[in-house]
Amino acid sequence: MRQATVYIDSEALQYNLNRVKQLAPTAKIVSMVKANAYGHGIKDCLAALKDSDAFGVACLEEALEIRELGYQQPITLIEGIFSADEMQVVIDQNIEVIVHHQPQLDWLLANKEAYIAKGLKVWVKLNSGMNRLGFKIDVIKNVINQLKAEGFTCVLAMHFANADAEHPLNEQQIQQFLEVKNDCAPLMGSCCNSAAIYKYPELHFDFVRPGIMLYGATPFADKTVHDLDLKPVMTFTAEVIALNNIKPGEHVGYGSTFTADKDMTLAIVSIGYGDGYPRAFPKQNHVAINGQQTRVIGRVAMDMIAIDATGLNLELGTEVELWGKSRLIDDVAEANGTIGYELLCRMSARPVRKLV
Ligand SMILES: *Cc1c(COP(=O)(O)O)cnc(C)c1O
Repeated sequence: MRQATVYIDSEALQYNLNRVKQLAPTAKIVSMVKANAYGHGIKDCLAALKDSDAFGVACLEEALEIRELGYQQPITLIEGIFSADEMQVVIDQNIEVIVHHQPQLDWLLANKEAYIAKGLKVWVKLNSGMNRLGFKIDVIKNVINQLKAEGFTCVLAMHFANADAEHPLNEQQIQQFLEVKNDCAPLMGSCCNSAAIYKYPELHFDFVRPGIMLYGATPFADKTVHDLDLKPVMTFTAEVIALNNIKPGEHVGYGSTFTADKDMTLAIVSIGYGDGYPRAFPKQNHVAINGQQTRVIGRVAMDMIAIDATGLNLELGTEVELWGKSRLIDDVAEANGTIGYELLCRMSARPVRKLV
């Protein structure tokens, strides 16, 4: 049987959740499980993250999946609802919304009594300079004051555009957030994703929203998961299905992009972009075998790759780690010109998932 396997380490997930608790001991934890728990599989991840105070998702469908799996914690729709008809479902299922523009505010106000009667908070999004979603600073105070006057419990929400880096916009975003929070006091607040949880301990406030750190990948370009004391949750493996010896001048794979300059042994591994392994590598990529790294040779195909097995004594069936504890996903992402987030979310349904 073709082996392409995604192992999900639930102890690592719990360890990373505990890291959030250590770093933000006074805040409630909204574990971000959007996009199928960053590609890890929502069901297994919810079980490991059941001690979270709440969950955050990007749309109603994702929230309903959490309810169907039997979890009763608060859920926040971080982009709110997308049409008026979703409001009734939200109320029936005890799901909290963000409001980021006037139509959402109108839909909420039209259902005021039922929403408040359920004890649901409303998250009000500040656009402090990222310019994706939210009310600007000159209107958000009126929005919040109106909601409070109508009897809603509000949480001021904001998202950093550069929490992973030094950037002048960070200070503007912080100042605007603090201004709204003060001027509309008392008001709960939430502005920290994973990077900001590490970087701004003074800004944890009422709710932190960790995502990538829970899964044991780094939000920072210049810090590894080891630096952050996080454990990789996903290990992605496949097996050697053929061994070839090639001579100098011979080519490998589609496009014949690789030419051997010496006698080499290649191992063909049963993994490809059909499994979610990326195809384009502007920089040399590697895999790990028993903790030792070796090069990927030639182009990634839909179902197979070739790796340099020269001198490694590999056999048919040898397990190869595409990413995991030895070959960090962040390093694969770097060679691929992207970030760990994208590789995780792009996992295909083909690899077999196993909980460990
Ligand atoms: C996805 C998301 C997060 C989590 O971000 P990470 O960088 O993965 O920690 C937090 N808040 C909002 C609004 C998000 O969309």
